[in-house]
Amino acid sequence: MNYYSLNKKAPNTSFKEAVIKGIAPDKGLYFPETITPLPASFFENIDNLSYEAIAFEAIKQFVSPDIPEDVLKTIIAETLSFDFPVVKINDQVSTLELFHGPTMAFKDVGARFMARCLGYFNQNNTEEVTVLVATSGDTGGAVANGFLGVKGVKVVILYPSGKVSDIQEKQLTTLKQNITALEVDGVFDDCQDMVKRAFLDDELTSKMQLTSANSINVARWLPQMFYFFFAYKQLHKTHKKIVFSVPSGNFGNICAGMMAQQLGLPIHHFVAANNENNVVTEYLTTRLYQPKPSVQTISNAMDVGNPSNFIRIQEIYKHNFEALKSNLSSFSFSDDQTREALKELYTDFKYIADPHGAVGYLGCKSYLKDNEDAHCVFLETAHPTKFLNVVEDIIPEKIELPSQIKAVMDEEKASIPIAHYDELKAVLFNTLS
Ligand SMILES: *Cc1c(COP(=O)(O)O)cnc(C)c1O
Repeated sequence: MNYYSLNKKAPNTSFKEAVIKGIAPDKGLYFPETITPLPASFFENIDNLSYEAIAFEAIKQFVSPDIPEDVLKTIIAETLSFDFPVVKINDQVSTLELFHGPTMAFKDVGARFMARCLGYFNQNNTEEVTVLVATSGDTGGAVANGFLGVKGVKVVILYPSGKVSDIQEKQLTTLKQNITALEVDGVFDDCQDMVKRAFLDDELTSKMQLTSANSINVARWLPQMFYFFFAYKQLHKTHKKIVFSVPSGNFGNICAGMMAQQLGLPIHHFVAANNENNVVTEYLTTRLYQPKPSVQTISNAMDVGNPSNFIRIQEIYKHNFEALKSNLSSFSFSDDQTREALKELYTDFKYIADPHGAVGYLGCKSYLKDNEDAHCVFLETAHPTKFLNVVEDIIPEKIELPSQIKAVMDEEKASIPIAHYDELKAVLFNTLS
């Protein structure tokens, strides 16, 4: 598969180059040249296929020929070594739990898949890369864990000092080896700005291959298609009109769902569930796409004022507003509504959600008001313990720390404090030696 830049001012490139570069030289996001739907027989036979076999069929065309089939099978097996259960909430609503991976965030799958692709490309030590990421919490842990020990890949993570939860900080700072955590005196936007500046810094990029590990990177974005297939496999016998409500920030996850639909997966409709960062909700109402500075909420992994993957969604629908609108609804919810939803899920259904999942649940409720015959699946994107400070105030129950989390809490934190871009640059040059 070749990929083109959505800015259309850079040459088309292979999967391998798209993964190593992260973003095209003209700063556009990469998008696959073609999307070939899977044959009807695949869907007829889906009950007999393992998750690994499903994932293999879904992603094969996008990584071939750069990743040979036998290697792809191994990468998938290593990536998917945990569960993706659908849990029933009531007759109209289910949740797809995406938090059973090593860092208990849905980003584990994308990070693990991407890391293994880079590891394969570097098998002869010719493609050393440094992955540079800014995190407001969740991405960093999944990336650090996914890339740990991968040969030829160094990871540098910037996080805002004092602004991530204790658990998240431990997940970022205790792994060591090829992972360096930079504790930035500032807010998330400062971290993000430094990362952007590094990617534009010729002095750096002429000496080292820098890449991103957020959903801009095709190897992190595309494996998220798997989730929608896995949910379909679990639900299609009992429900015909399956709708996904996806708690969205950068819109990578929901955009991957739309790619699964392009492959032929019978998804009836999508709901983009947003907190008060509501650019897309507004867009679907007003037709005006107006990025705004992000506002802080209790579902902070979705505090995004200008979602980077929305341009890919536009491309899928060929920039046709009506076509997009007939397939996507979007609702935005306040923190108070999110807290109410957490409470309702607990008292009415004995389900403990995290704030992001709760926003997804609200998305389902809003959609179902006018579409009673649908079955809505909200994606539960993080385990509630990762947002304990919020959840514990609402749920009158002690939430047991899962073993993955307990293990890192006892480890010692190692981070390098920085405040200025020059200090980031010095660290990056140091990783070269
Ligand atoms: C990243 C993240 C999201 C948002 O996903 P996007 O692909 O950026 O839309 C939602 N919930 C959690 C817990 C996350 O970490």
